[in-house]
This record gives sequence, C-alpha cells and structure tokens, in this order.
Amino acid sequence: MTVPVGRDEAPGGGAAALAATHAWFEVNSGWAPPDPETLADWAAEGACRAPDECWVARHGTCRHGLASWQVVLDALAVLDAGDAPGGRRRPFP
Ligand SMILES: [Zn+2]
Repeated sequence: MTVPVGRDEAPGGGAAALAATHAWFEVNSGWAPPDPETLADWAAEGACRAPDECWVARHGTCRHGLASWQVVLDALAVLDAGDAPGGRRRPFP
C-alpha cells in the first residue's frame, strides 16, 4: 500500500452515493464486502469495485450511482470509531 488514503475523488457526492448504496443493499442479496487483501489489490490498480461489481475509481461512484466498496467501508470505519471503545479515537471527547 503506497497510496495514502485521502479525500481524492468524490464524483457525484459521497453522501448521495452512500445513501444509494445502502438502499441497494436492502433490495439485493448475495453481496459481501471484499476482504482487506482484495481491497488492497484493487487499490494497487487505483481502482475499486462497487457492490454491484462495477469497476470504479477508488473513491468513485459507478454508473448506477453506487459508491465503491472503499467509500462504503471507509464510512463504516468512521461509524465504528464513534461507537466502539477499542476503535479509532475520536478527535475530541
Ligand atoms: Zn454499477
């Protein structure tokens, strides 16, 4: 992993894509998040998959409006950090 994670690409707006993606999760079954190694492989190519299997930019949005797995998992990590005592520290108490 050589590419630092950043707020590089957010075409279409991250929040709207995330909302569309979570709506997609509710009406589709059989999806599973990629394991970290798979995600790293995709990142090495500067790309990612969306939950519907589309190839997208790493922090991109597919043509169906779904956020990439990287965006989805980043958002979940932020939520986890807020809830889990052992998670990432919040910047303030
Ligand atoms: Zn798609």
